[in-house]
Amino acid sequence: MSHKPFSIAIDGPAGAGKSTIAKALAKELNAMYLDTGAMYRAFGLYMLRKGLSKDAAAVAASVNDVDITVEYIDGVQHIFLSGEDVSAAIREPEVSMAASDVSAVPEVRVRMVALQQKIAEGHDVIMDGRDIGTKVLPNATLKIFLTASAEERARRRCLELQEKGMPEPYEKVLKEMLERDWQDTHRAASPLVAAEDAVRVDTSDLTLDQSVAEMKRLALKAIGG
Ligand code: C5P
Repeated sequence: MSHKPFSIAIDGPAGAGKSTIAKALAKELNAMYLDTGAMYRAFGLYMLRKGLSKDAAAVAASVNDVDITVEYIDGVQHIFLSGEDVSAAIREPEVSMAASDVSAVPEVRVRMVALQQKIAEGHDVIMDGRDIGTKVLPNATLKIFLTASAEERARRRCLELQEKGMPEPYEKVLKEMLERDWQDTHRAASPLVAAEDAVRVDTSDLTLDQSVAEMKRLALKAIGG
């Protein structure tokens, strides 16, 4: 890489399309993609298996025991928990809330942010999460705050679950998403908030291709490409 590495931070609520768009954009820009939510999900799964995901003291005490690693296999991010590939297991609906629970614990955030910064070092990178523009990559080349209406986000999440063969009723998906968003925006440690210098992109009325095109336009402008 002859240029100074660029970094793109994408934050926003659940189901705004962050990971789908970030993945497509990373391909277009030949950059590394890091899904930081997967790391909190792996931690959440670890605590869920112990039956302690809602016990903040137990979560904080486990911070140095848990072994989470990220690997890229054929260009796809895989996440490992003590050597076990949990990339599929972390997508179970019950893991979403467990991820949100453990991610509110400051000790967990300190460890995950350090890990994320280390993984990204020296690479052109696109990261998505809740605190990327505010904490993980405060000097990012471009910060995007991606949103969509709650109804549209729930509708998309339902479709995604259906495609994975794990259908859930719309009302349940919407309720759980709103609960998780509330928790993520109201926690004391790095709550979900748009960075002051973030560009807001609302994807409610955009197709996936239109969203990616808009993000690419913003990215090339910021990178100077
Ligand atoms: O993005 P995803 O829905 O997979 O994230 C799962 C949970 O992990 C979020 O609801 C949030 O609580 C937490 N998270 C976070 N900071 C990030 C990424 C995810 O707190 N950077």
